[in-house]
Amino acid sequence: MESRRRSTKPPEELKIAKERITILFGEAEKMVRNDKKLANRYVELARKIGMRYNISIPSYLRKLVCRKCKEYMYPGITAKISTKKGYLRKECLQCGKVTKIRIKKK
Ligand SMILES: [Zn+2]
Repeated sequence: MESRRRSTKPPEELKIAKERITILFGEAEKMVRNDKKLANRYVELARKIGMRYNISIPSYLRKLVCRKCKEYMYPGITAKISTKKGYLRKECLQCGKVTKIRIKKK
């Protein structure tokens, strides 16, 4: 249970904040090929909105953020993805952090 009740924001504001996070990740995806720094900036902004409003970033978007350096991990550009023996290996090309995820067999 969350005990921090002081930061309660009106539902309408939370809805807008969530939309902004999704939009910022979308913009980051568009920009990453041309400008990695700008893409990282969008991701940083999205994270800041999440913190301010106490909203967690959806897991499908959180996967695109490096757990170590918090930068945008885009496969083939800022991250290297490979699969090996039932594992997905993600390497952040900005800080070198390697994450392994087990792939579920069908
Ligand atoms: Zn990293």
